[in-house]
Amino acid sequence: MRSIKKSIRLKNVNYEIRGNIINNVKSLEEKGIDILKLNIGNPASFNFSASHNILSSMKNNISNCQGYSDSNGLISARKAIISYYKKKGINKILTEDIYIGNGVSELILISMQALLNKGDEILVPMPDYPLWTAAINLNGGKAVHYKCLEDNNWYPDINDIKSKITKKTKGIIIINPNNPTGSLYTKDILLDIIKVAKEYKLIVFSDEIYDRLLYDDLVHTSIASLSDDIPIITFSGLSKSHMLAGFRIGWMVITGNKEMIKDYISGINTLSTMRLCSNVPGQSIIVDAINDVSETEKLLKKGGRLYQQREYIYHRLNSLDGISFTKPDTAFYIFPRMDLNKFNIRNDSEFIIELLEKKHILLVQGSGFNIDDQSHFRIVFLADYNTLKKAMDSLEDFLNEKRIIN
Ligand code: PLP
Repeated sequence: MRSIKKSIRLKNVNYEIRGNIINNVKSLEEKGIDILKLNIGNPASFNFSASHNILSSMKNNISNCQGYSDSNGLISARKAIISYYKKKGINKILTEDIYIGNGVSELILISMQALLNKGDEILVPMPDYPLWTAAINLNGGKAVHYKCLEDNNWYPDINDIKSKITKKTKGIIIINPNNPTGSLYTKDILLDIIKVAKEYKLIVFSDEIYDRLLYDDLVHTSIASLSDDIPIITFSGLSKSHMLAGFRIGWMVITGNKEMIKDYISGINTLSTMRLCSNVPGQSIIVDAINDVSETEKLLKKGGRLYQQREYIYHRLNSLDGISFTKPDTAFYIFPRMDLNKFNIRNDSEFIIELLEKKHILLVQGSGFNIDDQSHFRIVFLADYNTLKKAMDSLEDFLNEKRIIN
């Protein structure tokens, strides 16, 4: 029989957050077993909702959204994005510098597809949000992972970055605020990255989708507000900040030295026009949504649901011998490390599968985020207190069953 194979371009393309383990989940669910899924950062699945104002905005706009828009996106939406970044200290954005997409995901793919030739290298944080590595591999590039230091709040290791730059390096990706670690970078770290990018003439890709999800009154600095002389592409969107990931609203903004990447920009324009435009109903709410994060801010303040869930998970993990972690400053992920000398667990993947089969909880193994050890895992703490309690009780039981008693 003829067997038609997938493209060889997909050889090293992985997205473990929704990876092969989903088959194990399906077979358990077919047996009638409920699985507690703490693997995906999808606020709506945990009873978070967009605000009433935003939902009304979508309802009111929908009848005017039946046609294609400009490929870069609705002008009104792009002007609102410009005003948002002005407040963050990025001043020189033109409407043509903005590309609205079906989520940041689509723009990550476009930005890599327009740039990479076989063997071109891009520096990617380790751990990463794995779509970046997947997009690089898909387009024939080479993702070169640089270390982020767990014992230094998961900040990028600038020396490691420098040591990994070659003639083929075209850019450096930062994810700030970070998924999966919850780290928020300081201005000094960002200035160090700018220095390196300037010296080696690299493009900076800054994924800032969590920039409005900060705890403890912390403030986010966009790297693009700190430099005009290197090309910087900033990515963000409404999926997380407005709890409406299903509406698929994201954007990317090109700032700084555009002359250096003129040809690359023309490639982005080609790809952007080829997909015609992103979904227009989604675009239509950007004007009302972008400056209205008051509902989400309430969740992040002391007493708010996300804040309390972060505190809860922090206290529960803190009480577990053999588990260490950094308290997240942002978002709704935590990335603990298991001391594998203390448990009968060989590696992160085995841990995830056994935890699923025995306790019916789904997490993601650290190696799914391209980290070079096998002792981490990611928990999404969007679930409400009762659900998180159930998950943490089961996790604790599991680790105790696996504990090596000397
Ligand atoms: N970037 C990061 C760091 C993410 O965590 C995610 C989603 O989890 C995305 C980008 C993609 O977001 P979207 O496509 O919903 O805008």
